[in-house]
Amino acid sequence: MIDFKSPMQVVPFDQIRPADYKPAFDSALAEARVDIDRIIRLKTKPSFKNTVEALERSGYRLKRIEQIFFNINSAETSKEIQQIAQQVSPLLTEYYNDITLNEDLFRKIKQVYNDRQHLKLDTEQQKLLDDTYKSFVRNGANLNAEAKTEYRKVTIELSRLSLKFDENLLDETNAYQLHLTREDDLAGLPDFVKEAAALEARSKNLSGWLFTLKAPSYQAFMKYADNRKLREEIFRAYNSRCFHNNKQDNQEVIRQIVNLRLRMANLLGYKTYSDYVLEERMARTPEKVNSFLKELLDASLPVARKEYDEVQAFARKSGASFALQRWDWPYYSEKLKNEKFSVTDEMTKPYFRLEKVQEGILGLANKLYGLTFKPDTGVPVYNPDVKVYRIIDEKGSFLALLYLDYFPRDGKQGGAWMTNYRDQFKQKGKDFRPHVSLVFNFTKPTDTKPSLLTYDEVRTFLHEFGHSLHSMLSNCTYMSLSGTNVYRDFVELPSQIMENWAEQKEWLDQIALHYQTGEKMPVELLDNILKSRNFNCGYAFIRQLSFGLDDMAWHTLTNSLKVPVSDFEMTAMASTEIFPKVDGTCLSTGFSHVFSGGYAAGYYGYKWAEVLDADAFSVFRKNGIFDKATARSFRDNILSRGGTEDPTVLYRKFRGQEPTVDALLIRDGLKKGQGTRD
Ligand SMILES: [Zn+2]
Repeated sequence: MIDFKSPMQVVPFDQIRPADYKPAFDSALAEARVDIDRIIRLKTKPSFKNTVEALERSGYRLKRIEQIFFNINSAETSKEIQQIAQQVSPLLTEYYNDITLNEDLFRKIKQVYNDRQHLKLDTEQQKLLDDTYKSFVRNGANLNAEAKTEYRKVTIELSRLSLKFDENLLDETNAYQLHLTREDDLAGLPDFVKEAAALEARSKNLSGWLFTLKAPSYQAFMKYADNRKLREEIFRAYNSRCFHNNKQDNQEVIRQIVNLRLRMANLLGYKTYSDYVLEERMARTPEKVNSFLKELLDASLPVARKEYDEVQAFARKSGASFALQRWDWPYYSEKLKNEKFSVTDEMTKPYFRLEKVQEGILGLANKLYGLTFKPDTGVPVYNPDVKVYRIIDEKGSFLALLYLDYFPRDGKQGGAWMTNYRDQFKQKGKDFRPHVSLVFNFTKPTDTKPSLLTYDEVRTFLHEFGHSLHSMLSNCTYMSLSGTNVYRDFVELPSQIMENWAEQKEWLDQIALHYQTGEKMPVELLDNILKSRNFNCGYAFIRQLSFGLDDMAWHTLTNSLKVPVSDFEMTAMASTEIFPKVDGTCLSTGFSHVFSGGYAAGYYGYKWAEVLDADAFSVFRKNGIFDKATARSFRDNILSRGGTEDPTVLYRKFRGQEPTVDALLIRDGLKKGQGTRD
């Protein structure tokens, strides 16, 4: 196994130049092919060890380079990196196709698989064998020669289109800027938003204030700007990304993607792409997903309508003579929330200093799982903003490396995510610990202020940190089953459960200290944050459900797409709509989750996992939010187990029963019950 020679085999970012990636890919690919050839050529009888396990261990260097490169392509990209991605993506697809479509290799695997009852494999080995066999079948191994050729073409084209989709989106997101030079136009914006906008302007050598379509800038403007015309302008810009009939338009990309996905599913014998995807999910079938979404929609739509009426009435009372449009919703909602609960980001932000929030979150991991975090400045990073920590387990052993990358940059995709620079696995008695990376787009520190988070950003931090725990606490043998390598509708359980602590007074009280005075957040404000938690929850529900329904509609197509993209999505989301349609906008053309991010036929998974996390957290609620025994059980049954067993089984082991939607509906105020907030 060839790896970096650096201590802990960390990625030597200080020595890697973009031009190094292509040659590295080329040689790693060649090496991986040698590994595969060795398995195929072996004359002895195929066994679990010489075939399935050998395949799992093959191409190690390639997997590492892939992880590094694609993480960099998301967190620190450039035209050069993007070009390399375009070059290598088809090569990788081809390589993986060459494996799964190799008849000799498949014959060997099938032989082991057919013999599985007699092999005395442990649970994880059985899962690996099962997954390996299925992944071959799911990737076309059982197809005839002609169908195989077509399958290859389809997958290569799909990987190209996904990249194209992302590039278009990044280009259009970066292309727009709202440059304001009159102070009047800033009316309503809190100082922290103005300061960030001034800083953004200066970084582009402009005077005045600059607003962009990156999340912190865009969302703040929508929430606070009094100027309705400008809100509309930036709203339209954001929601029409890649919908301008120009070079960056994603409509044709989408049409090709959904048609090719359907074609691929059909080739493999599935009715729709979602049937294909969901076979490997807790939900199992599109019918189950659609009825799940419908159940939640029925529970939330009446609540959302009531919320709408309330915000509309409030807007009227504050002098608005118009029916609310989408660009009015965040603005008047924020004002009403402030009136009802007297809580605004401006009031709470001074209490959520990034460093202190980080301390609170790492401290929580200490309380629950006994982890300690030590800064390690010796580990090379890809950008000076990135900080690295060594994670030490309860008994003093090294557990993981954690890279933290907090602030927006031009080469960084929007949003927040967790990835690994190395997955956890065990080989020859050695436990290879993971190198985990968390990437955010938090508000940057300014000249006068440190980075202060909104309450939502505190939750985002907890969320991503939950993913990283899933990676860091992993205790599996095989890389492809370790950490977050689990079903998509299960993967958000470890992340979303962490958000529950943001609603616990006991924890929040410890981290919320004023950045200037060091004083604790006033009890009243803290209470108001918690009381406002379910404000407009019905609307938030239907937004998420509308994304889920759009996604399912695209992937339950049984014929190639005939209608325009925007008409199609309008029909798909009609049952969730409470606002009039805004001409010239389109959700799907910017919906990277499902067109380039691996969430195709999987967006429902967020809500699915909310059901799991609400249900799972009810155990902590019962036993105590810092209860070590409950945490131990969550760690032993879920966090450390990766995908080594069916998630339904893992969940039942932790919970003692199957989850129901009740805990979620009650927590979010959509249903009355024990634990309902008033
Ligand atoms: Zn997540």
